[in-house]
Amino acid sequence: MKIAIMGAMPEEIAPILEKLGTYRTTEYAGNSYYEASYNGVDLVVAYSKIGKVFSTLTATTMIQHFGCEKLLFSGVAGGINPTLKIGDLIVATKLSQHDLDITAFGHPMGFVPGGSVFVESDKTLIELSKEVAKELGKTVQEGVIATGDQFVHDETVKNNIVKHFNADALEMEGGSVAVVCNAMDIPFFILRAISDTADTDASFSFDEFMESSAIISAEFVMKMVDRLAK
Ligand code: SAH
Repeated sequence: MKIAIMGAMPEEIAPILEKLGTYRTTEYAGNSYYEASYNGVDLVVAYSKIGKVFSTLTATTMIQHFGCEKLLFSGVAGGINPTLKIGDLIVATKLSQHDLDITAFGHPMGFVPGGSVFVESDKTLIELSKEVAKELGKTVQEGVIATGDQFVHDETVKNNIVKHFNADALEMEGGSVAVVCNAMDIPFFILRAISDTADTDASFSFDEFMESSAIISAEFVMKMVDRLAK
C-alpha cells in the first residue's frame, strides 16, 4: 500500500520526516517529494506550499505520478468552534471552499455547477482515527472545515464562514485536497491541530503555536500510519 502524507508548510512535515529517518528525495513539478518505506508501507511525503492551488497540484501529483492510494493531511488550522483550543485536534468530516463565490447567479456560497458545497471525508479513516484517539487517550473533535485562499484574522469574516458553512475550523488547503481525492476516488483524511482562533490576534497566535501544533498533528497521523500498516 502506498500512502501520501501531505502538509502545506515545511514545519508540518518536518516531524514526519524525522520519524522516517532515511528517505529518497524526488523533484517533480517544482516541488520535493520524500519517499520512504515505513513499517512495511510505502510513504510519499510532501509539503505543498500554502493555498488551494499548490495543494491541488501536490495532491494530484501524489496520486497520479507517485501512485498513492490513500492520502492523509497533517497541519494546523484556525479554530472557529469555541470548544477548540490551541493544540486541540480536529478531523474534517466534510470540507468546503469558503471563498468560492458565484452567488451572483443564485448559487449558494461554495457551489459551482458540477461540484458540491461539501466534500465528505472517508468514513473508514475517521473510524480508524477514533480507535487511535482512544488508544492514545486523546480527544479528537470531528467537524466541518472550511478552506479558502486567505489567512483569516477577523471576526466578521469568521462569522460569515459560520453562517454559510457552519464550519468548526478553517484553513487554506483541505477543501482543495478533498476535491482532488474525491474526483480520483482516493480515500482521504484531513487532520488539523489548532494554531489560532482566526481573530485579530491570529497571526501572533499562529507564530507562537504553529510549530507545536504541527507536531501534535503529525504525531497523530503517524499513529494512523502505524495502524494502517498492521
Ligand atoms: N506564517 C506563514 C503564513 C501562514 S498561512 C508565512 O509567513 O509564510 C496559514 C497556514 O496555516 C495555512 O497553511 C493554513 O492552512 C493554516 N492556517 C492556520 N490558521 C489559519 C487561519 N486563521 N486562517 C487561514 N489558514 C490558517
